[in-house]
Amino acid sequence: MFVILLILLVGVVIYFLWRHQTTTLTRNCRWRQDRGRGVWRCAYCGAETVGDRAPRDCLRFK
Ligand SMILES: [Zn+2]
Repeated sequence: MFVILLILLVGVVIYFLWRHQTTTLTRNCRWRQDRGRGVWRCAYCGAETVGDRAPRDCLRFK
């Protein structure tokens, strides 16, 4: 009985981790570097940020 509960628990955890990863991916923005102004601009939501690299996710949904 205990083993069955453990398997169920692990399955639920994996499901939520998988879902979190999927939703994070869909939130990713299309970052374009604006070299003239030195900023990264999101073509999807219009967010702007400063940095050497493009942000990994959308600033709008934080
Ligand atoms: Zn965005």
